[in-house]
Amino acid sequence: MNKFSVDLTNCDKEPIHIPGKVQSHGFLIAVDKSTGKISYISENAQAFLNCPPKDLLEMPLNIIDKFIKQQDPHFSVEDLLKLGIIRKSFDAIAPHPLEINDRPFYLVITSSSHDWLLEFEPVTLQYDLQSSIGRSASAMLQGKSVSALLKRAATEVKQLIGYDRVMIYKFLDDGHGEVVAEEKEEKLEPFFGLHYPASDIPKQARELYKLNLTRLIANVNTLDAEIITFRDEHPLDLTNSSLRAVSPIHIQYLKNMGVQSSFSISLISHGELWGLIACHNYSPKFIDYKAREGSKLIGQILSSALEYRQGEEDSEIVQQFKETANILSDQLNRDKYLTDALTCHKRTILNVTKATGVALVFENELKTIGEVPDSADILELAEWLKSSTDESVYYTHRLSEIFHPAKNYKNVASGILSCSLSKELNEMIIWFKPEQIETVNWAGNPEKPVTPSENGLLSLSPRKSFETWAQVVNNTSEKWLQEEISSVLRIREIIITDLNKKANEIRLLNEKLQSAYEELDTFSYTISHDLRTPLTSIKTYAELMLKNKSIDENGRKMLGRILAGADKMNFLIKEILNLARVGRSEINFETVEMQALVQEVSVEVWSAFKADKAELILGQLPDIKGDKTMIAQVFTNLLGNAVKYSLMVDKPKIEVSAYIDGNETIYAVKDNGIGIDNRYYDRVFELFKRMDNVKDIEGTGVGLAIVKRVVEKHNGRVWFESKLNVGSTFYVAFKNN
Ligand code: ADP
Repeated sequence: MNKFSVDLTNCDKEPIHIPGKVQSHGFLIAVDKSTGKISYISENAQAFLNCPPKDLLEMPLNIIDKFIKQQDPHFSVEDLLKLGIIRKSFDAIAPHPLEINDRPFYLVITSSSHDWLLEFEPVTLQYDLQSSIGRSASAMLQGKSVSALLKRAATEVKQLIGYDRVMIYKFLDDGHGEVVAEEKEEKLEPFFGLHYPASDIPKQARELYKLNLTRLIANVNTLDAEIITFRDEHPLDLTNSSLRAVSPIHIQYLKNMGVQSSFSISLISHGELWGLIACHNYSPKFIDYKAREGSKLIGQILSSALEYRQGEEDSEIVQQFKETANILSDQLNRDKYLTDALTCHKRTILNVTKATGVALVFENELKTIGEVPDSADILELAEWLKSSTDESVYYTHRLSEIFHPAKNYKNVASGILSCSLSKELNEMIIWFKPEQIETVNWAGNPEKPVTPSENGLLSLSPRKSFETWAQVVNNTSEKWLQEEISSVLRIREIIITDLNKKANEIRLLNEKLQSAYEELDTFSYTISHDLRTPLTSIKTYAELMLKNKSIDENGRKMLGRILAGADKMNFLIKEILNLARVGRSEINFETVEMQALVQEVSVEVWSAFKADKAELILGQLPDIKGDKTMIAQVFTNLLGNAVKYSLMVDKPKIEVSAYIDGNETIYAVKDNGIGIDNRYYDRVFELFKRMDNVKDIEGTGVGLAIVKRVVEKHNGRVWFESKLNVGSTFYVAFKNN
């Protein structure tokens, strides 16, 4: 409120204050609610009433009746005011028609805190709008979707007020605005799809828009009229005034766009400002009170229709998400592989949200659909997600600000929504949304250079606004909706249940396998055991027969073969019994003194294979924890093989050494024998498997299977390195605790 000094010749009471301004197409008189005297008046009343406004200040209201003509000459303005006060509302008596200097005017009364506001404005419409407003409303409501509804509303408002451009402007959740519908004269550049930063419509302006549903700026070029008063105790509250002057910044904004008249209607949804119907005219154009009220009504109908339709569309989205979840659930039940179920059909995990791309990281494989970053980038992102969040669902619409490498692919993934399927295995699904700026529909040509307006002011123009907005939304995607997050949680639940179900199936299979395995062990044990008695008989009787002198040379040879066969069979049975024993017996953990054990075993092995020519080198042999009998079996087999498969070389040399590596003690048994062909690497430990190069050497193919079984029973590891005709090294790692 700026003060200025005035000539106070005819008034010695107080200086005049200017609490505000009104637009000059009408004039305002405020009446003190308690005294009924004129407390404020706009200076331009002079032009309408041909009377210095100062002369009316502090006069009783009925002085006004001198200047106006009413249909009923006995009805005064004061009567009208009283009528409104009795009814507790001025809506029913607005607008009140009257004449000033033979010109038709409307009087509209509203309330301000201590005063009544009486606003007089010219009447320009000569016909009644009632029926055309009804038609407009029903035409508008034929729009089925929200966007059709908005488009029709713009069309109807344009028809009603005849402005060059009618836009529907929607406030998004971060406060910025978007033109979501437009109806305009063909020659005009379209603004549809333009985004405006939140700063374009300041917060206090938005609050006013909620209280006062329409605003007309009849002509940006006329000077506003000042309101004068003798009072200074409080400024006049113009919230409910329709003549209220608007901020000079806003006027400049309109001028920069070449707009001469502007009209806006608030759209309120669930008590909040949803948006505005913003109307522009490129020449001055006043809108009659009734046409404004008609537009307001359309705005109100649109507001409630929006609430309803938006609700409908939201629940439609939820419905679609739910349907997708059901379909995916069916696919998971039907398909053998999870990845196929989620990505290979018509309905995929992409349909779970409104994302434009999705990646599934599962069982060490990456599967993507739609627009996604490079595979390497996705895997790096997955690693980062694993290390930086413990939540099962994580989302952001400004990824590159948190995770800098994402700057390189912000065009496809400024927003991510991820859900973890398994934390340990780092299995997850990540949905991607592109940078918002990429998705914006800029109806004009964004490359077109910005031309300064006449006064060189660039700071306020739609194009400039767009640029400002573009900076604000740089690096961000559209936000994730609550519905999308719920949908992801829903699908996560379904997938995890499915995984658990499959894991359960596998566990059951495992149990069956385990019992089959045990049965087999018992079977081999029994068979081997039971075979030993008849075998001993065969051997004993064959030996007895050999002692019988009447058997000739040929018969002896045959008996020799029977004895050799029985020995071989006996050995095989022993080996199988050993193997079965490992499966059946419990481990008896104790500290095993390896130095002694290896020495003992080697003596036996050397004598069994008559391996005097083979050299044995023993290194440091630290103690380990394990079952002594089983460990002895392991080294008997490993040393046995080392000797057996190197005796044919010139100077067989066998080395046993060990070292401690972290939590493990690793033993190595090295020989310089015939070696193993690498092609069979995976099969060496299989039962009965023997390599091609050992055909002439005796063996059963059971020894290493026993080694593997013992080592695994001890939670250890076994592996080997070998080169044909150079030698082999077998390693066994035992856990230290
Ligand atoms: P086998 O009774 O035949 O020795 P194993 O199970 O102990 O049975 O070994 C399986 C096969 O692995 C052997 O037949 C042999 O072909 C190969 N093999 C095991 N140890 C060695 C070794 N030290 N050098 C060369 N080949 C070996």
